[in-house]
Amino acid sequence: SSGKLSGLNTESGGGATDPKNLKVKLVLLGDSGVGKSCIVLRFVRGQFDPTSKVTVGASFLSQTIALQDSTTVKFEIWDTAGQERYAALAPLYYRGAAVAVVVYDITSPESFNKAQYWVKELQKHGSPNIVLALVGNKADLQENREVSIEDAKGYAEKNGMFFIETSAKTADNINQLFEEIAKRLPRTPTS
Ligand code: GDP
Repeated sequence: SSGKLSGLNTESGGGATDPKNLKVKLVLLGDSGVGKSCIVLRFVRGQFDPTSKVTVGASFLSQTIALQDSTTVKFEIWDTAGQERYAALAPLYYRGAAVAVVVYDITSPESFNKAQYWVKELQKHGSPNIVLALVGNKADLQENREVSIEDAKGYAEKNGMFFIETSAKTADNINQLFEEIAKRLPRTPTS
């Protein structure tokens, strides 16, 4: 007998060269105005368009990337769209998230403090093996910088996070952010 189950499209053999397809929920957290929506739009649509923002409810976009080892990663990206005011809802929002991207604005120490608050929340309530990224956005505004790379990097290292500075405006490091996250995902295929 062939032993095949109808309806299941499993590639036979299952050798090490088979591509793996991951699907992951990614949530964005951080103060309002740090550039979360702009980062997502830059990544998904390749545009910088601060006016096309969803203002009510959580917005949802997905984007798939391919890695060099032929793994594909489909990010299902959840943006709070202003719900950072409703902190009590946050645990519902990041439940099941494999990745949390905590964003601050390099010109705003307040937003960096708020990022640290979100990291603590995620450490308490997020899934134990969640991939955490700390993102200093608006890196194009060097002349207004108020959060040093050293401080942010040191904080990220202490908390086992991946750290990167980005600019949604110039596109600097946006793709790199998602590629680095993808590389850090546990390699468990999903259906
Ligand atoms: P959110 O509330 O965190 O989703 O922030 P938005 O994505 O709506 O961005 C807030 C504002 O910051 C927008 O009006 C953008 O003009 C600006 N912004 C976002 N990203 C950048 C960036 O990388 N550089 C600069 N200079 N401005 C940015």
